Amino acid sequence: MNIPMSSPDLTDADRQAVINVINTPNLSMGKYTTDFEKTFCDLTGAKHAISVNSGTAGLHLCVRAAGIGAGDLVITTPFSFVASSNALLFENAIPVFVDIDPRTGNIDPKLIAEAAKNIEKILPRKGAENHGKLKAILPVDVFGQPADMDAINAIAKEHGLTVIEDSCEALGATYKGKQAGTLGDFGIFAFYPNKQITTGEGGVIITSDDKAANYMRALRNQGRAPGDTWLQHTHLGYNYRIDEMSAAMGASQMSRLDEILSKREQVAAWYEARLSEIVGVETPFIESFTTRMSWFVYVIRFDKNINRDEMAKKLTARGIPVRPYFLPIHLQPYIVEKFGYKEGDYPVTEDLGQRGLALPFSGVMTEEQVNYVCEILRDEISKA
Ligand SMILES: *Cc1c(COP(=O)(O)O)cnc(C)c1O
Repeated sequence: MNIPMSSPDLTDADRQAVINVINTPNLSMGKYTTDFEKTFCDLTGAKHAISVNSGTAGLHLCVRAAGIGAGDLVITTPFSFVASSNALLFENAIPVFVDIDPRTGNIDPKLIAEAAKNIEKILPRKGAENHGKLKAILPVDVFGQPADMDAINAIAKEHGLTVIEDSCEALGATYKGKQAGTLGDFGIFAFYPNKQITTGEGGVIITSDDKAANYMRALRNQGRAPGDTWLQHTHLGYNYRIDEMSAAMGASQMSRLDEILSKREQVAAWYEARLSEIVGVETPFIESFTTRMSWFVYVIRFDKNINRDEMAKKLTARGIPVRPYFLPIHLQPYIVEKFGYKEGDYPVTEDLGQRGLALPFSGVMTEEQVNYVCEILRDEISKA
């Protein structure tokens, strides 16, 4: 049985939407981009949606709009995809890591509160000698489950910090009934082919801040402010524009978002039913305040006595693609070199990083495929 690690959930209507665009001469900055953005305002109630050509680009624009610059400190999580920290490094800001909740893998608000009170105490060993002020908190909605945003916002308010919610894994998730991405000052979604919806490459920022939205629209378009001609550039900007083909695919996918998320929920439920009874395997924990999980990946954890890397090798050899999730950001080589982190600095992140394994997952997986993965996993664990 061929089982891919992930697959986009595309219909003929999604494909036709792209073909419609390429039969016109307008391949960028047109109607489809506007339509795509509107679907995010409709879903989330945000005042502004700004599409970009990746989630990483979206994060970067939020960092610029929040006025985070060289030496500024931002509290964030080491248990994430690297882009959440990289967006800070692009501006020479300093990510100040705090550890995570061992159940969800989301940043721990208690540790954020301590860090915000005593920021000098937890600065990285090096690279922070001439640091500036603490400016922001950048939580990540890990694996499609929102971080504890009420607690995070309360800390932000107390210390006058901006909150950038990296919702790149959590489109459509809800926290206490509220949409992920709307919970901080800025929210970002991403659409690489393994995400819930895809545009090939792409991202969207949502915010209700008019001034920031205008600024980010200018920055994504080579710094052209409203009123600038094609060759006038008020700001230092980028080409972070999404193209019309991607936007059309995205708008078509967004019209089916609920169905797409429901199919992923079903696949996760199949996994849960089969894996929760296997001794040695821990299935994902869902917080009570997560009113809807938006399944991005399905990550299990092995008990400490099972060697995750050995198990990954065995599953791969039997045709089951798997991936360790996440390798901690503070231990990535360039981060170690810059900030001097070492093993032991964030024990919960490291523990989950060593025990977590993403299984094949998508909304188009069949029950037979899930059965097959679970049977092989059960078999390998019984031999371990
Ligand atoms: C996918 C993802 C991003 C953005 O990814 P792009 O590939 O740039 O679209 C950012 N943060 C997290 C946590 C992600 O999972």
